[in-house]
Amino acid sequence: MKKESKLPSNTGSYQLGAKRKVAHIALLLEELLGIPVQARQRAKPLDMLIATILSQNTNDQNSYRAFTNLREKFPTWEDVLNAKTSSIIAAIKTGGMANQKSARIKNLLKEIKRQYGTLDLSFLKKKTNEEIFEMLISLDGVGTKTASCVILFSLRREIFPVDTHIFRICNRLGITVHSKTPDQTFEVMQPLIPEGKAYSFHTNLIRFGRKVCKANNPLCGECPLYDECAYPEKEKRSMVLSAPSKRKEFDFMILDNVSGQ
Ligand code: SF4
Repeated sequence: MKKESKLPSNTGSYQLGAKRKVAHIALLLEELLGIPVQARQRAKPLDMLIATILSQNTNDQNSYRAFTNLREKFPTWEDVLNAKTSSIIAAIKTGGMANQKSARIKNLLKEIKRQYGTLDLSFLKKKTNEEIFEMLISLDGVGTKTASCVILFSLRREIFPVDTHIFRICNRLGITVHSKTPDQTFEVMQPLIPEGKAYSFHTNLIRFGRKVCKANNPLCGECPLYDECAYPEKEKRSMVLSAPSKRKEFDFMILDNVSGQ
């Protein structure tokens, strides 16, 4: 199936109300969780692509360990491209699904080399968001979330990636009630993000999803967004007594900690 490559534009009629709601929630989250600050050193686009693959279906600590092991064992991405698959599997096994992920990483490196003749993707900096997005999602195994993470975290541009946490919370809050997939939510959300707040809102929503608006046990009784929320179960859930987690590891995000070669 051909992948959709168009970034959504800022048009539509319902957007004024939705924009105000999103801006208000982004502000409330900054008051609750602070304004996140990006690391000084930018990760290279290819590092970010590989880190995003490693982060799938595991937690950020495990995937970060897999990423650092891989970088220690293979100093360059050319080394990974030329390595035996079994050596890559051994290096990333702490991240889970090592067989599938090693095959995806190898294929991705092969395809980038074939298409661009290099594994250095720094030329992306000269492209527009739309061009970068189109180029990245044309690569096998790279979807909307991965491409938008590269643009936000590595190139530091305004784009709002949507993962499963953000998909779930936007639906519960009633911002994207008709979205059936994270990719649909991605399209709805782009024009709604307050200027300059893509990184802050993305990061804070993920933290909020890990600590408060959890998938199976949302802490509605403790929730600072209760009045903004359209989740039909919120009243029933607010009767359940539990406290927000203070565990620090919920704040750790692999894509904030990837460093360049
Ligand atoms: S009220 Fe409950 S469902 Fe709504 S945002 Fe808060 S924790 Fe999530």
